[in-house]
Amino acid sequence: MNNASAPATATVLPSGRSDLVVVGAGIVGLAHAFEAVRRGLTVTVVERDRRPVGASVRNFGHCCVTAQRGELLGLAQRSRAGWLDAAKSADLWAPEAGALVVARSATELAVLEELREERGADAVRLRTRDEVADALSRPVDGREDLVGGALLPADLRVNPREAAPRLAAWLAEQPGVTIAWGTNVVGVESGTVHTSRGPVHGERVLLCVGHDLDRLYPAEAEAHGIERCRLSMARVAAPDAFRTDAAVLTATSMLRYDGFTAMPSTDRLRAEVTGHSPELLDIVANVMCTRLPDGTVLVGDSHAYDATEIPFQDEATAELLLREAARVLGVPSVRVTERWQGVYASSPRGPLLVRDVAPGVRALSVTSGIGMTLSFGLAAATFDGTLTVTGAARED
Ligand SMILES: Cc1cc2nc3c(=O)[nH]c(=O)nc-3n(C[C@H](O)[C@H](O)[C@H](O)COP(=O)(O)OP(=O)(O)OC[C@H]3O[C@@H](n4cnc5c(N)ncnc54)[C@H](O)[C@@H]3O)c2cc1C
Repeated sequence: MNNASAPATATVLPSGRSDLVVVGAGIVGLAHAFEAVRRGLTVTVVERDRRPVGASVRNFGHCCVTAQRGELLGLAQRSRAGWLDAAKSADLWAPEAGALVVARSATELAVLEELREERGADAVRLRTRDEVADALSRPVDGREDLVGGALLPADLRVNPREAAPRLAAWLAEQPGVTIAWGTNVVGVESGTVHTSRGPVHGERVLLCVGHDLDRLYPAEAEAHGIERCRLSMARVAAPDAFRTDAAVLTATSMLRYDGFTAMPSTDRLRAEVTGHSPELLDIVANVMCTRLPDGTVLVGDSHAYDATEIPFQDEATAELLLREAARVLGVPSVRVTERWQGVYASSPRGPLLVRDVAPGVRALSVTSGIGMTLSFGLAAATFDGTLTVTGAARED
């Protein structure tokens, strides 16, 4: 029986053996299910909740391609193609809108110029301050802070509220696919996943449970140093005239993503931000804004790391992010309509955990906060056999 988001009584586990059992209906698990279907495999997805509510619906919906580097850049580029295919199949909103990086100092612009030197003028399109003001739909006269910026056209936007749920609904309609919602996985062995509703059988098992890997495989999670990263997020009412679907990134984004941090001027940028806005570094901010199709804007974020996340959200952190976002957007203030806390898996030891925990059972968690960006690239690499168990993609 196929059920995408069924009422509490409707979940029926498949009695036979699937080619693949995926645990976790976040974007990483669903991208793997999508790739499996494309390859003609039968799939059972087992998800403890009744719909996706994890990191995959709490994020910015920014597929941050250009700001990656090395093997992650390759995975992100592959993922972009997968997202566009999935968008076509499942009718997802996925504008090829890119990312607009706003530069408000000469040092910020220098980082963007250096990235353009490295990647080329097509991948990093420098923008004048007039063009940036125009992209933000603000008169340039009121924006003395703007120096310029860059458009990164390869970046994609998706709607995090709809992408995973719609993809799950589409998958549930495909022959050979079952999605078992409201079904908690309590143990795994080769060929069998033990759940709160009984066993589910599969040739291969893929654990895509993000930070909750420590609940099933604590030793593996500890060996990789998995922690929970907690992020402060808000949705704000449509700011006056703001129309761009591009993700809007700032100096703090340049201090975060490897593509930028490898640039020679980043050290100078860090010193500069330390000088004028140390409070942003204290909360490990990545000030970003992304617009949803209804015009409202997602605003965030901060980062706090712990084995178990504390449940309390600091209002001063939230207010700091909102003030900074209003400054970047060039509006006096923003009006919050929703707040939430995001949590994702993080590790100081590497951006991915890819471990074969038993024969035919693989655990895969993105431990660097870029799972939306990488999801479909990881899925393609999984089925091609080009992901190594150390987490790095093999070079062909
Ligand atoms: C605030 C925020 C902003 C972010 N912004 C971006 C961004 O702009 N770009 C980007 O690329 N990434 C971003 N990320 C990171 C990205 O959202 C994550 O890396 C990605 O969503 C991880 O996907 P996942 O499927 O592994 O995890 P999840 O979406 O958390 O899914 C894991 C699923 O496993 C299920 N599960 C766990 N244990 C069990 C069990 N025992 N039995 C059954 N089911 C189980 C959970 O219920 C959950 O549905 C952001 C994250 C946050 C929180």
